[in-house]
Amino acid sequence: MKLLGSVVLLLVLGSALAFKSYSGYQVLKTAPLTPAAMPYVNRLSRRFDFWGTPHVGRPATVMVSPEDAPIVIAAFNRMRISHEVSVADLGPEVERERAENEALRLALPRKPRVAAYDRYMTFEEIDAHIHETVDANPDVASILDLGLSYEGRELHGIKLSNGAAGQKSVWFDCAIHAREWIAPPVCLRIIDEVLADPALRDLADWYILPVANPDGYSYSHTDERFWRKTRRPNEGSSCVGTDPNRNFDFLWDGVGDFCSEVYPGSSAFSEPECGAIGNFVSSNADSLVLYVAVHSYGELILYPFGHTVEPVPNVDDLIAAGTASADAIEAVGGTRYSVENSAAGLYFTFGASDDYAYGIGAALYSYTYELSGGGSGGFNPPASAIQTVVDEVWPGLKTLVEYSLAN
Ligand SMILES: [Zn+2]
Repeated sequence: MKLLGSVVLLLVLGSALAFKSYSGYQVLKTAPLTPAAMPYVNRLSRRFDFWGTPHVGRPATVMVSPEDAPIVIAAFNRMRISHEVSVADLGPEVERERAENEALRLALPRKPRVAAYDRYMTFEEIDAHIHETVDANPDVASILDLGLSYEGRELHGIKLSNGAAGQKSVWFDCAIHAREWIAPPVCLRIIDEVLADPALRDLADWYILPVANPDGYSYSHTDERFWRKTRRPNEGSSCVGTDPNRNFDFLWDGVGDFCSEVYPGSSAFSEPECGAIGNFVSSNADSLVLYVAVHSYGELILYPFGHTVEPVPNVDDLIAAGTASADAIEAVGGTRYSVENSAAGLYFTFGASDDYAYGIGAALYSYTYELSGGGSGGFNPPASAIQTVVDEVWPGLKTLVEYSLAN
């Protein structure tokens, strides 16, 4: 027992040493942004790590290293963007979250074929869960094999189907942004629900990818809690990774710094994870009705496009389906998601996955869901809140599927 205790202690110490401390990192929060500030914020966001999506009329939140803090504060002052320090030192917050997750993992070992909603699962646990689920339900479930990530992890999702030919299909991916840990539990909850209800499988074939960026997701567990991008190195730079949600081949914008959190990559679909999803979406365009990318945070239901506020042809249906979904979420516990055009906040994006699915004509209904934030740092709900989030979001997604297939 004593030896085992020492080994566990060594493992914990070993992983703690490799883990970025975020000591001295601050979180700055602005006053609600004015339209005049938005061009500056768009530019600043290419260099500094804004959390959530900056939005006119709302406060923005940016995480800064000790070196960057004076630069960002000076820029805010120059642009007359008033701001305050919302977290003075992120280090202890990250350490507390990490210790809690470690403790929960030891206290609540994974059960076969049961998704955990009382703690955050690792990529390996989620992948094992998917395989066990498929093995246990061979008549309705199969592995959705999308190939390999850059580091060779399997991009394994799940297909749930009643087996009938000619079914329409719906797609959900979660955690293409590595650090958005609250997203995979939502994808796992969809799998639970569709497995349990044959009527849902009669509606459509369901394709669900719980961890769309497994390299980054794993890295956010082992090395850097706030890792967002993929893990493919950039030639000629020490800065690793591409923002996968800027890497899709629709209005891909090749301008960007390697070190930026929104670096779009060396070419559209330079990232194998994005190419795999893009390939699925384009080759299933005939059956695909709905595409949903699940992100955090902001309590938003966003519809295309990200580069313009110009309405798309079926904007009324997109708003109606999104509003029905938001109403279903609100009915559970009162949380109100806002339904918006992605560019409504005057923060503009190019090469996003939902815009790709819509823009190439594959999915007439295409959305990004930004789930709730939370916790002491504000970015991620504590493990104790996972169940609440999945409980309220599932009825909203079910409503979205029902609406988009009926209209
Ligand atoms: Zn995201």
